[in-house]
Amino acid sequence: MIKGWLSLSLEELRHHMTTLGQPPHRANQIWSWVWTKFITDIQKMTDLPQKWRDELSGELVLLPLTLIDSIQENESVKLLFETLDGHHIETVILKQDEATEETEDPRKRLTLCISSQAGCPLGCVFCATGKLGFSRNLEVDEILAQVILAERFIQEHPGLFGLTLTTPRKISNIVYMGMGEPFLNWDAVKKSISILTHPKGYNLGYRHITISTAGIIEGIRHFTEWNQPVRLAVSLHSPFRMGRERLIPISRSNSLDELIEVLREYQDATGRRITFEYILIAGVNDRLEDVEGLRKLLLPFKYVLNIIPYNPVPGIELETPSRGRVQTFFRFLREAGIHATLRKSRGKTIAAGCGQLGLLWENREVSL
Ligand code: SF4
Repeated sequence: MIKGWLSLSLEELRHHMTTLGQPPHRANQIWSWVWTKFITDIQKMTDLPQKWRDELSGELVLLPLTLIDSIQENESVKLLFETLDGHHIETVILKQDEATEETEDPRKRLTLCISSQAGCPLGCVFCATGKLGFSRNLEVDEILAQVILAERFIQEHPGLFGLTLTTPRKISNIVYMGMGEPFLNWDAVKKSISILTHPKGYNLGYRHITISTAGIIEGIRHFTEWNQPVRLAVSLHSPFRMGRERLIPISRSNSLDELIEVLREYQDATGRRITFEYILIAGVNDRLEDVEGLRKLLLPFKYVLNIIPYNPVPGIELETPSRGRVQTFFRFLREAGIHATLRKSRGKTIAAGCGQLGLLWENREVSL
């Protein structure tokens, strides 16, 4: 079995072609099929020599994932994939960009939420994925295959997304916000971004990509040094050290003070705005003192605070705030001069809301 070609940059694939006795431009031909038509079956790449296609057929595995199930709800479709070694990961197609507050023309936007790990080692207390534990990091091709298969799924089901346009690429934004902590698999995540943004391939703008972190200090440092205009989202969930440590155990070793310091360094170096994610949990972080804590903590930043009402997770004893409570909290934020947006908990009934990946398949007897 030949695999791993999808993990190669165009330059690496060109070099690889020469080692196989093929001209380097074969790589460009393959990339064009994969990244503009989402075709990964070598036999269908009709501008490659038939003899070579026949030799590779049955041997070359470009896609290391298989789509094994999908569930849809009004504004989200959740895809379940299986890796070659039997792990299950999830990807969510959202009809609107939920990761940022930008909604210039929401009707045209499809956001893809992708996974960077199978499971997650961080165990945030509100999170279904964290509850499932950690299997392993995803390879570059496993991260990229989620994009190709999601594009193919959209092409095959345009009606689900209200699409009638015939533009080849349908996804406008990608957020690394699915299963796993992207900064714990940074090399693979970084390489996947360099492939997704390559002008001769998928050609997605860096600004259309968001990395979401639970607050891994070292990872944010590397991200700052990398200095590409990818957006950064940081899970905050509490403006207080103790409160945050209760919700995000990793923040005991990646403290709130260090986080604030490294984010200031990031903003000083890049000038880019930070999205802070805040899952609002009834009686936990929805008090007036939380608003005051947020006001002080956010003061030095250019930021947006994204409020996400907690999605219930079976077996986790946290409560969703009432609609009235969410509105009151939001009003307090506004009165305190905090730049906040309220994210609709889309995908709730299919367990595709934040912190819910991994939930539903469990009940469908698929082990993650
Ligand atoms: S919220 Fe994110 S970082 Fe925390 S356990 Fe879940 S997947 Fe991991």
